[in-house]
Amino acid sequence: MQRRLLGRTGLEVSILGFGGFHLLEISTADAQTLLNHYLDAGGNYIETAAQYGDGESEKKVGLVMAARRDECVLATKCHARERDAAARLLDLSLGHLATDHVDILFMHHIQSQAELDQILAPDGALRAAEAARDAGRVRFIGISNHGHPEIMMEALKRYRFDVIMTNFNYLDRFNFPLIEEELLPLALEEKVGIVGMKAVGDGFLWRSAEQAFRYAWTLPIHVMAAGTNTMTLLEQDLAYAEAFTPMSEEEQEQWFFDAPELGNYVCRLCDKCLPCPENVDIPRIFELEGWYDRQMWDGVVRDPGDYWLRTALRFWFENQERARAAYAALPVKASACTDCGECEPRCPYHLPIVDKLSHTHTKLSGAGALNPRWAWM
Ligand code: SF4
Ligand code: SF4
Repeated sequence: MQRRLLGRTGLEVSILGFGGFHLLEISTADAQTLLNHYLDAGGNYIETAAQYGDGESEKKVGLVMAARRDECVLATKCHARERDAAARLLDLSLGHLATDHVDILFMHHIQSQAELDQILAPDGALRAAEAARDAGRVRFIGISNHGHPEIMMEALKRYRFDVIMTNFNYLDRFNFPLIEEELLPLALEEKVGIVGMKAVGDGFLWRSAEQAFRYAWTLPIHVMAAGTNTMTLLEQDLAYAEAFTPMSEEEQEQWFFDAPELGNYVCRLCDKCLPCPENVDIPRIFELEGWYDRQMWDGVVRDPGDYWLRTALRFWFENQERARAAYAALPVKASACTDCGECEPRCPYHLPIVDKLSHTHTKLSGAGALNPRWAWM
């Protein structure tokens, strides 16, 4: 399996990482079988978190680490925000993982300015991570986050994190464009290690898993952590990694047309529909819809599986309030559209722009449900 250098850490990591969250869903014996199979197949990046099952995932990983710690780069995450609590949590994590050190300790799920301020404070969790690094119990310090690239960028500017971990996939590319347009270049410039997650969009891109991994590995990220809970899934992911060849720019552009999950609903932010005579900033409004619900709710009910996935995943990043605040600050709202018909013929992806603007205004203005049956929208 291809390996890449994890930024300035100097660690070499396999492009497929083993994500520990889904170990909660299987027995200890099955977890050991999967982890051993991953290592036997040439994988060498295993990540978990203290918060996953209150230590259960770490304990399952630890049973394998007891014999194979030297064979992998091991990462865990700390969800405490204060120094003393973080130090206690790391003691527990190392015990669960049956090791005297982890290679990377992530500040877990830093989603807001307030949380960033907390960990950076004189009595913040980062002080515990630094003390652990000085004592040889942690080699590198990272930060993880979902769907808030501006927080990650600020974090990189305020602290010399060695590694970042966030979501990279061809759906969220259009919901959180700053991830690829600004966060990724900043991290590369600073030689920060880049760990990806959610290559298949939390499962939403399941029909296109091979293309989804190809897309993610074509980005200049270093490792894509993928959670798995069956041997079939693990072998599939390993096969994708073995067969990986980068997508050319032409292939990517074509995929943005063909991907069934993007269809004629997700805005590709290409700006070709502009200008609007009413000054409606169509792509920006659809980007805010992406913040709100990842452009997953299009008002169409297809089949139970699709309905369940969209319902379960669209608010995963808890960005609704932020999206509504950003929309409230826009000088021209979607409701200014007069249905003049100029924009839709210009859209290469055949988006029903006028209808989508109407849906989006409903979501972002909090004006009411799209349909009374979905009053929680
Ligand atoms: S249909 Fe609406 S959004 Fe499109 S160009 Fe006309 S006014 Fe603007
Ligand atoms: S042309 Fe279509 S895909 Fe491109 S920005 Fe406008 S609505 Fe989005």
